[in-house]
Amino acid sequence: MPYRFTFDLSRIPRFFFTEITKAAYQKGVHKKVGGTAQEMIKRFRIQEATGLNLSDAVVLLQDLIDMNARNLMEREKFAQTRRRALFLPHCSRKYMDNRCKAIFEADIPSYICAHCSPDCLVNKATSVAMKRKYDVYILPGGSCIPKILKTKGYEGAVGVACGEETKLSGKMLESMGIAGQGIPLIKNGCANTIFSIETLSKTL
Ligand code: SF4
Ligand code: SF4
Repeated sequence: MPYRFTFDLSRIPRFFFTEITKAAYQKGVHKKVGGTAQEMIKRFRIQEATGLNLSDAVVLLQDLIDMNARNLMEREKFAQTRRRALFLPHCSRKYMDNRCKAIFEADIPSYICAHCSPDCLVNKATSVAMKRKYDVYILPGGSCIPKILKTKGYEGAVGVACGEETKLSGKMLESMGIAGQGIPLIKNGCANTIFSIETLSKTL
């Protein structure tokens, strides 16, 4: 399920994301973050930068904090896994039309990147992950993930998506006993979306 609002955090200073990680750590220790989300919205002027209303900004930040908290909890288990998959969202491809030369394998279902554009985020992420022996899937949606995980017998999975999607996927991985790590989109909108390659690299 996509958010009912669009956002773009790609120009927010990097320090903001360090603060998100700190808040997630606090949540892991104290099981609550209290007014942290609202305080960060004010401090980093998130509403001014994104045009979001306060309640949508709170939902977004809370989801980012929750995703980071889940990553921290799962990190040790994830580090011990060998067979891993990376799930990328099709919405981060440089092109969403026939200028994208990826081949769509309907039986998986996944796009297979043809590396047509060096500056395409999905291309960069695919190359980084393949060097680290990940199997890479570029998905049109999250509903096919359980089938892929079961068929291929993965022990660990990294997923890039917007908060709502990663929340659902995180719960699903937990129920299947698979260690997961989530990477948030920092710009959503279901086309030309953005995630951080640096964060992905560190996570892999
Ligand atoms: S680099 Fe890959 S994902 Fe990006 S537009 Fe080209 S084929 Fe599509
Ligand atoms: S922004 Fe991308 S990951 Fe999120 S719902 Fe839309 S298509 Fe899916």
